[in-house]
Amino acid sequence: MENKMFCFQCQETAGCTGCTKFGVCGKSPDLARMQDLLIYTTKGLSEVTTRLREEGKEVSKDVNHLITINLFTTITNANFDDEVFYQRVKETLATKEDLLAKLANKENLSEAALWNAVSNEEMDVKVNLLSKIKDAILGSGKEESNIDKILDEKSTKVGVLATKDEDIRSLRELITYGIKGMSAYMKHANALGYQNEEIDALNDILPTETAVVDVKFKEQLKGVTEGYKDSLSTIQLTSYEPNRLVYKASTPKDGVVVFSEIYYPGWQVTIDGQPVDIARADYILRAINMPAGEHTIEMWFDPQSIHVTESIAYAALALLLIGVMLLAWTQRSKIAKKS
Ligand code: SF4
Repeated sequence: MENKMFCFQCQETAGCTGCTKFGVCGKSPDLARMQDLLIYTTKGLSEVTTRLREEGKEVSKDVNHLITINLFTTITNANFDDEVFYQRVKETLATKEDLLAKLANKENLSEAALWNAVSNEEMDVKVNLLSKIKDAILGSGKEESNIDKILDEKSTKVGVLATKDEDIRSLRELITYGIKGMSAYMKHANALGYQNEEIDALNDILPTETAVVDVKFKEQLKGVTEGYKDSLSTIQLTSYEPNRLVYKASTPKDGVVVFSEIYYPGWQVTIDGQPVDIARADYILRAINMPAGEHTIEMWFDPQSIHVTESIAYAALALLLIGVMLLAWTQRSKIAKKS
């Protein structure tokens, strides 16, 4: 039997495989499909904002917040109000259309980035058919707008199972759920008046293709603002200890390397023995500028605070020794006077 819905985003999922008839959490199939459509349109909007950023154009905080709240609203139990999802999908599509008009290069955008719910002949036929089926089941007391019917129709085609390859589907969903979790925190930070362009941009990018770096790290990356994944470049971790890592790298062009290692003050890096600056990429990762050629990169943890603490400890020890010696000398003097 065909699934009425498919959702496997939480640990409550039916039979540990997927809710296909009704959500264990109480989510209805109609709502599940509209959430799928909201994620689909949000991905489309994110693709457009990523392209805008690549073109050096600003993305407003309202757009960033819309993406954040869309992702947050679809987590388990966050919102079960159908009307909210219809409105949010429409707002997302309208926002995307506005931004698309500002885009200079619209080449190779995905269907999600270009779809705008404008009816066409083929869609009208399907929508009318769907409407008749709904009327037959529910009665025709409920008036639905044509756009809502188009959204209903589209929502049946963009769910999790629309990605046929299981590996790609699993990876996609894993990334989506990770970003949803991050958005839950961002939504609350936004509600308290905090926002961070670097974090907001992370919601939109494909991390395997693009890295986000705060402009304050421009010098560390020697002004590089644009780079492309180069299939001729290689990097290999050749030695790993918790506080020391060694890599062999080779690249035909100058570029930027982003390591899947946490950015934290105190890490030192050398390329072929020469110290280089570390920048922060994607808010949490280490990145360095690397010149063309073959190199050995070494990274080790050597925070300044340890050296300061050591100096303070040695100074305190020296003072203690002087104190003990003074005390001993005073005592000896007193004994000598008495005798
Ligand atoms: S969020 Fe709801 S519908 Fe989705 S897997 Fe969890 S229980 Fe099932």
